[in-house]
Amino acid sequence: MSDDTWRENALCRQTDPEIYFPERGGSTRDAKETCLACEVRTSCLEYALDSGQNYGVWGGVNERELRRLHRARRAATKTA
Ligand code: SF4
Repeated sequence: MSDDTWRENALCRQTDPEIYFPERGGSTRDAKETCLACEVRTSCLEYALDSGQNYGVWGGVNERELRRLHRARRAATKTA
């Protein structure tokens, strides 16, 4: 079981959740700016990577960046 207590301090709880899941091609700038000020950013990104999230902004990382991190992690696991 994972520790999800970081969610209690998620800054996005105080904002519009839709900015974290924009339509295809939509801007993620507002979401990423909020993430930069979020104290649980690292935990959020770790959760997204550990749980295989592919959609939305997590820990200040957009979908394209998230997929890149997933690939890098898989590559590192293969060579380890
Ligand atoms: S880093 Fe961003 S998406 Fe993650 S909890 Fe904080 S505000 Fe929400």
